[in-house]
Amino acid sequence: MDDLETFQLFLDGKGVDALSGRTFESMNPYTGRPWARLADGAPEDVDAAVASARAAFDGEWGAMTGFQRAAVLRACGTALEGAAERLALLEVNDSGKLLREMRGQMLALPQWFFYFAGLADKLEGRTIPPANANYFGYTRREPVGVVGAITPWNSPLLLLTWKLAPALAAGNTVVAKPSEHSPASTVAFAEVLFEAGLPAGVFNVVTAWDRAAGERLAGHPGVDKVAFTGSTATGIKVAQAAAANVNRVTLELGGKSPQIVFPDADLDAAANGLVAGVFAATGQTCMAGSRLIVHADVAEALIERIAERARSIRLGDPIDPATEMGPVANQPQYEKVLGYLRGATDEGATFAVGGAPSELGGLFVQPTVVTGVTPSSTIVREEVFGPVLAALTFTDEDEALKLANDTPYGLAGAVWTKDVHRAHRVAAKLRAGTVWINAYRVVAPNMPFGGFGRSGLGRENGMDVLNEYTETKAVWVELTGGTRDPFQLG
Ligand code: NAD
Repeated sequence: MDDLETFQLFLDGKGVDALSGRTFESMNPYTGRPWARLADGAPEDVDAAVASARAAFDGEWGAMTGFQRAAVLRACGTALEGAAERLALLEVNDSGKLLREMRGQMLALPQWFFYFAGLADKLEGRTIPPANANYFGYTRREPVGVVGAITPWNSPLLLLTWKLAPALAAGNTVVAKPSEHSPASTVAFAEVLFEAGLPAGVFNVVTAWDRAAGERLAGHPGVDKVAFTGSTATGIKVAQAAAANVNRVTLELGGKSPQIVFPDADLDAAANGLVAGVFAATGQTCMAGSRLIVHADVAEALIERIAERARSIRLGDPIDPATEMGPVANQPQYEKVLGYLRGATDEGATFAVGGAPSELGGLFVQPTVVTGVTPSSTIVREEVFGPVLAALTFTDEDEALKLANDTPYGLAGAVWTKDVHRAHRVAAKLRAGTVWINAYRVVAPNMPFGGFGRSGLGRENGMDVLNEYTETKAVWVELTGGTRDPFQLG
């Protein structure tokens, strides 16, 4: 036997092997070695998980009041505070992200559980004044049913929590299918929630190497809603699969988010925001601010500041508190990033900094700023999902907006300026689901997050997300007790 940590599927409140008995290994991208063994779920395991979620929905969980669900969610939040360190380490092993970042993310998860616990007992319907005095009407907000949640490898538990906390608050049950590249933390997370009092079957996890499990969940006739985060290409397939069951779907997809820097901006603050936007998490965030759109008068000064900071970024062991950037999370993603850098060179781009694999070897890539590009360059148009910033210049506000909005995506963006009029004017015209003014990469449970265009469908977080996880039922009450003409409407 080897010393790999093992993780089973989590179904109906307990760990179980895949029906086939098969397993797969998860690689640690920093050490380049497998560190965990996971159950390799197949479509039949997804069927079992959906059956378990349905039974819980029809059973104890479905019968609870919002007040009771809120109490369970609060207990889950408290338990997660205690489990943060272990969960953070699992994510670091799986994805190579920094311990200091994942620790922060894990310590933030309880906020989502507490926020949505606060809404679980406030899902009120309305009374509706009758058009016909013989009737009285009211609405009820009811859970959608069984939710299928499919997540990517870059922030598995944060992105799952954005789905799970509101889904549970609204009274749904959930089957999660984490990425094959970072599956371990989701299983451990399910154990923590179960031990905190989430009833068996309310949250089930199927890990799988093969993508057939995700496909099965997205198109499962026993699922009532699909919540997906990942690439745009996969999101389209997921939406098509869900459409076959006339199921609703929320999609959080890719981005190519612009950071517009006006000449009056605080350039030190902007440079810091650019670094946070594209080099943090090795650029592997959906909201990466990967396009710099900077006024020509300050372009050189700003790019030099970013390049200088990029040169001093400490690459290394994700566990080391001094490390600022870890490796790319997996081999296919590493090849993809290097392919984009080669392509940029072939298209005539230049590099203000970086542009190559790091001398550390492994899956490390240099933080990179690409210059000498045009709005039609591939590196300006496509999502790299790595530590690569592409820079364009402008001379007036209209041109800045035209460049910023010249993308099929629309997830996020930033405006850097001290002019309060300009800041709000530009924020209003940016085609993006989130705009930060003089900031970047801030999220919270109560602020909606999602994309315009090919960046997604629907929103996560904020009060409105509960609409994504509830059905509205209209109830009519006849008041007179009399009879009516059966051949007339109403
Ligand atoms: P991916 O789209 O390849 O996979 C995402 C998930 O979908 C994984 O769990 C995968 O197993 C599953 N999957 C794959 N094919 C499927 C199918 N046909 N049906 C159902 N499920 C399927 O993405 P990834 O490589 O894990 O993550 C990187 C991508 O995710 C990037 O493009 C990034 O922009 C995007 N992303 C977006 C956000 C956001 O909030 N908008 C957040 C993180 C990542």
